[in-house]
Amino acid sequence: MPIRISSLIFAPRRARPSGRLAAASMAALFAPRRARPSDRLAAASMAALFAPRRARPSDHLAAASMAAVAFLLLLAAPVRAEVIERLPTADKVVALTFDACEAKGAPAYLDASILKVLEAEKVPVTIFASGLFARRNAAELKALAASPLVRVENHSLDHPQHMERLDADAVRRQVAEADEAIQAATGRKPRFFRFPAGNYDAATLATVEATGHKVVHWTFASGDPARGVTPGHLKDWVLSKTRPGSILIFHVNQRAPATGPALPAILAELRRRGYRFASLDEVLP
Ligand SMILES: [Zn+2]
Repeated sequence: MPIRISSLIFAPRRARPSGRLAAASMAALFAPRRARPSDRLAAASMAALFAPRRARPSDHLAAASMAAVAFLLLLAAPVRAEVIERLPTADKVVALTFDACEAKGAPAYLDASILKVLEAEKVPVTIFASGLFARRNAAELKALAASPLVRVENHSLDHPQHMERLDADAVRRQVAEADEAIQAATGRKPRFFRFPAGNYDAATLATVEATGHKVVHWTFASGDPARGVTPGHLKDWVLSKTRPGSILIFHVNQRAPATGPALPAILAELRRRGYRFASLDEVLP
């Protein structure tokens, strides 16, 4: 039965790997879009699978085998269509992530006040750097990445606010050129990608995943680049929202002046609550 896994890329935006997603993906898989006769047949079977009706024993058997086949196909699917927004754990673990954004024409540099805290606290961190930022701050990133506590990941080449408006070639270039710049600086090829401003659609997500990167966003926005944010507000907000498995996001490109001053209290309180810190690289398969 020629079922096209590629349709999985039409899974809903901000999808999570839940049971509901599996059902939604399967529905998307058999959607009438560019349907061939065999697809329509499969769609009919799947519709039957999910339809409440007076089942006979043989129907149950058929449904079970369809479900088994569908499950195996999902396992075999090369496309994940997944944006990771939390760590897969119920333990008191959080990931600290810092965006190092530099867009075209807006030079950006590392925030020394944040680096000082990270150095003193010895916590693992993941930095999502744009390629332009990695080129401009190559020596500093090289020094940082020499620590086993620091990983530098891909945040596009020049931080387009809407990557979903780029064609597939342009998206691939954004990823590849940032990879090159980061690898040139740190010696390591990024595994993860984060969309600038968090904007994407199903096609863009599929294109990025096809480059071999997992897409990792955040559990809740800290809002640290917003105007007028004080260290006190930032600390209270982050502490009120953090849960086991949270992926925290801050900015380390000198656009979030409250973050450095707020960090020591945030880390201290999370430790007091029993949290430990992990890099994405350590926790995500
Ligand atoms: Zn950014």
